[in-house]
Amino acid sequence: MKWVLATRNKGKVNEFQRLADELGGGIAWLSLDDVQFLEEVEESGSTLAENARIKSWAVFKKVGLPVLSDDSGLFVDSLNGAPGVRSARYAGVGVTDEMNNKKLGKDLEGVEDRWAHFSVVLCAVHEGKEMLFEGRVDGRIATEVVGSSGFGYDPLFIPNGFDRTFAEISNEEKDALSHRRRAMEQFIRWKKNFF
Ligand code: IMP
Repeated sequence: MKWVLATRNKGKVNEFQRLADELGGGIAWLSLDDVQFLEEVEESGSTLAENARIKSWAVFKKVGLPVLSDDSGLFVDSLNGAPGVRSARYAGVGVTDEMNNKKLGKDLEGVEDRWAHFSVVLCAVHEGKEMLFEGRVDGRIATEVVGSSGFGYDPLFIPNGFDRTFAEISNEEKDALSHRRRAMEQFIRWKKNFF
């Protein structure tokens, strides 16, 4: 069964593909480029769910195939949930992961409470109906950037039960506990029940 994965983020595509392959579900993923969806959809929502819904419906209306989109972010307790829905553009529009990590490190300088979590909301749209799935992983923000694998805030995020950042652990270890893993499990379970 063909599903469009509504993201252009290479790191995320790789993670989704690894997870979907591992969890089964018989999905052949098409990227936005595969279905010639070239528009940039503005993520104008104020929650992850709103942004995921905006993306899925924009693609579904144009392409007509089943669509799965995601919106994710890092929520830091002592920053009242920032960077949150603005995670990708925390240090400004079009910035690099390094710049976002640098800003987060600075904003947390001298701050003792470093609890944080990654959250993701997936929005599946199929035959004009939508379903939302959420996943979350809790942890804390390291005092310095460590590790080179992964993407985004991985070098600053230490998941609970570990003393290494997401950028230091293997893909397999991250996949076993990530927010995307937890949400994907629910999506695949739903899909297996309905198709
Ligand atoms: P969006 O979901 O594409 O709007 O952006 C989410 C942003 O949150 C990414 O650009 C990353 O900065 C951050 N993010 C989400 N999930 C992860 C993750 O698993 N590791 C590191 N950063 C993440």
